[in-house]
This record gives sequence, structure tokens and C-alpha cells, in this order.
Amino acid sequence: MLQQTQVATVIPYYNKWMAKFPTIRDLAASDIETVNSLWKGLGYYSRAARLLSGAQKAVKELHGRLPDNAKDMEAEIPGVGRYSAGAICSIAYNQCVPVLDGNVHRLLSRFTALHAQPKSKRTLDILWAGAESFIEQSKRPGDINQALIELGSTVCTVRDPVCSDCPLRLWCKGYQKTQPNASHPSAVDADIEDLCLVCDPMPSDEDDGSVTIYPMKTARKKPREELDSVNVIEWRSINNGDRWFLLVRRPQGGLLAGLHEFPTVPNLTGAKASSSDMAKVPYRLLQELLMHPPHSLHSEKEPSKKPTNSNPSYHVPKITHVTPAGDVVHVFSHIKKTYRVQWVLLEGEGDEPPQLRPAVSPDQGARENGNCVKNPKGKQRPSKRSEVSEAEVNPIPQTLSVQWVPLTQVEDTNIGTGVLKVWKLVEKLWTITR
Ligand code: SF4
Repeated sequence: MLQQTQVATVIPYYNKWMAKFPTIRDLAASDIETVNSLWKGLGYYSRAARLLSGAQKAVKELHGRLPDNAKDMEAEIPGVGRYSAGAICSIAYNQCVPVLDGNVHRLLSRFTALHAQPKSKRTLDILWAGAESFIEQSKRPGDINQALIELGSTVCTVRDPVCSDCPLRLWCKGYQKTQPNASHPSAVDADIEDLCLVCDPMPSDEDDGSVTIYPMKTARKKPREELDSVNVIEWRSINNGDRWFLLVRRPQGGLLAGLHEFPTVPNLTGAKASSSDMAKVPYRLLQELLMHPPHSLHSEKEPSKKPTNSNPSYHVPKITHVTPAGDVVHVFSHIKKTYRVQWVLLEGEGDEPPQLRPAVSPDQGARENGNCVKNPKGKQRPSKRSEVSEAEVNPIPQTLSVQWVPLTQVEDTNIGTGVLKVWKLVEKLWTITR
């Protein structure tokens, strides 16, 4: 929870999480829908999904106990890398294994005056070895690891390190090299940089006489840019005015794992990003998602009043408006997404939204979570849920579960921050078009 997120933000999430999942077995017995609802707003949802699958694996295959050594934990538990394994095993099992998070990386880069590519294997090997040297003889490796993390985050900070308060100052090479008056028996006369086979030369404009020259600065990789067509598809009953919205659940792995979103066609380029093509997208989507899709986007014909075989009282709906709503920009760590949003109004007779295509390829997660949603009048009814498999022409890339959600419940569904922004953008249109 604390990855890229401040402690004050995390505390209420952590308390709710622990109240719901006091043991690993409670977590393992849960599902992605519940887990995401507790994580909603924290971002980086794949972490929540991995916590769930890690707990499930531990319960199913390891009698509900995490391995008691870092090597097995890293190898066997999804979502646990070297850092997490080191932290858990040193703190919980008193195992002499190091940790290297961003704080310790910075601290040790300064402590050793290491000016080298911060993410290169060679640099990381050196820093992991440095972290190990702090705990290898220790009786309290967990405490030492926590102390290093804490020292990095509170004293050896990114911009304003407080070297005068630092207990490592006397042995710190970075401090000695940048403070002319610093001295200690361990200080060396030779310029370490000249002797070092690992460090890159220090550019003169970077050397401002501060320890913040370590770790080496690298140009930040620009996130790649992608344009997605996001379609807020509403079905409105001609009979009673009830309003339902189509939501698709994302796969359980990867970006925004298991969250719901409006039907989206990702990464459009060239002609597909033109406004004329965008207007055709909802039509294509509905062909894939509905049992009886509308005939044509701009059809002059009335929708068929002919009842279908599967539902004798059902009438094919018609798209009556496709209204561009504008763009929402949402930046993930590695992708800058522009969501080009349009509101698609589908109207039809009857009290129920159009039937979704039947399951072609089951999504176990969706099945297990076949919970109820309230209809607009507040009564419980089973959600309209279906699974759609990847078809050749399907713009939706993977097997996904789809459902109609009443207007009043869209915001309560597990949607991410970007989707919430999309929703707010479309809501503004209604006040204009009403
Ligand atoms: S002396 Fe300064 S640079 Fe060195 S570890 Fe301490 S705070 Fe960081």
C-alpha cells in the first residue's frame, strides 16, 4: 500500500483492509471485486490483485503459511520480489537478508559515493551487496533494515539531506567528498572517482558541492502516449425512462486489473483516431456485446419491432445520439493515456436493458462474483452479466465480463480514478442536452 503512496493516505485503507482480512485465510477466501473495493482510490491496482493471488497460493499450496526464507518466498509467492521478501523475512523471521528500496538505494549511493547508472545491474549488485554488509553479522536484521529505510526517508532525503544529524556521517564517502572540512580515519586522499571502474565521470555542471549529486541523475523516460476511444453507453427505456450503463471488467492481470470501465478501444492511431471513425466505434462495440445490436448508427429505419426468438417481448434498440464529450488525460507510470470520450445513447422499449451476448469463454472471476445490483427503483435483481471472448473483429482485447449497471450505481462500482473522470465529464453533457 505504501508504494508511491504517503503513510497518512494509507492508514485508513490499511485499517479497513486489516478489519476485513485479519488473516491470510480471510484474504484468500475473498475475490477481486471485494479486494478492489477496499483498494479503490489507492491506484496501482495490480498490487491488490497480486496480494490476493499470493494469499490464495499460500493457502492452497503452502498450508496458509508464507515460506520462512526470502529465496522461496520470492520464487513462490506472486507479487513478492526481492525487496518484499527481504523485508518480510528479516522483520518477521529474523533472517539475515537485506532490503533495497528507493530510500536505501539513495542512502547507499551517497554512503559509497557511487555515481553510476542507478538501475544498471552492476550498480544494483553493488548496492545489494552494500545493504547485505549492514546485516550479515546482525542479531536484529529486521531492525537494521527498518533503520536504513527510515534513515533514507527522514534524514538522507532526496533534496535536503540533513548530514549533520546522520549517524553514518563519519563513514559516509559522499559526505567526505563533498564537504571539504570533513575528516575521518576512513577518508582517503586519492580521488575515488579516478580509481573507480564503476562510476561515470561527474559532469562539472552537476557538481554543486552537495551530496545530492548521488545517486547519478538520469533522464526520465517519457511515458508513451496512447489514445483510447471510451464509450459511455447508456440504454434508456422509452417506456419508463430507466437509465442503465454498460461496464466491462478488465482482466485480472496487468493495468487496472479487475476494475470496471466503459467499453474502450485502446491505442487508436492514424485513420482510426479520426472523428468519423470514432463515431463508428460504439456501433462495432455493440455488435460484439449485444445479442441483438442496433441496425446502423445513422439508420433512418425504425428499429425492428419484431420480437426475437430468444425473447418474444424484446425489441431491438436504436442508437439515437453519439455525442463527443471531450478528452480526459490520465498518466500512469509508463503510459500517458488520452481518453477520447463519447456518450452513446441507446433507446429501446421494455423495462430491461438489451440482452448481452451469452458466455462464449467463461471468466471465472465474473462467475464467482455474480452478485446483485439494484435496479433504478431500488429493488434487488441479478445483474445482467455476460462474458465475451476475443473475436477477430472484437476491439476489446481479452475475455471480459460485461454488465449493465443502473445510473445510481455507476460510481459505487469498482472503477478507477480515470474512469471516474470520464463519468464526470459525461454527466456534464446531460445538463447541457436536457
Ligand atoms: S552523511 Fe549525509 S549523505 Fe551520507 S548517508 Fe548521512 S545523510 Fe546521507
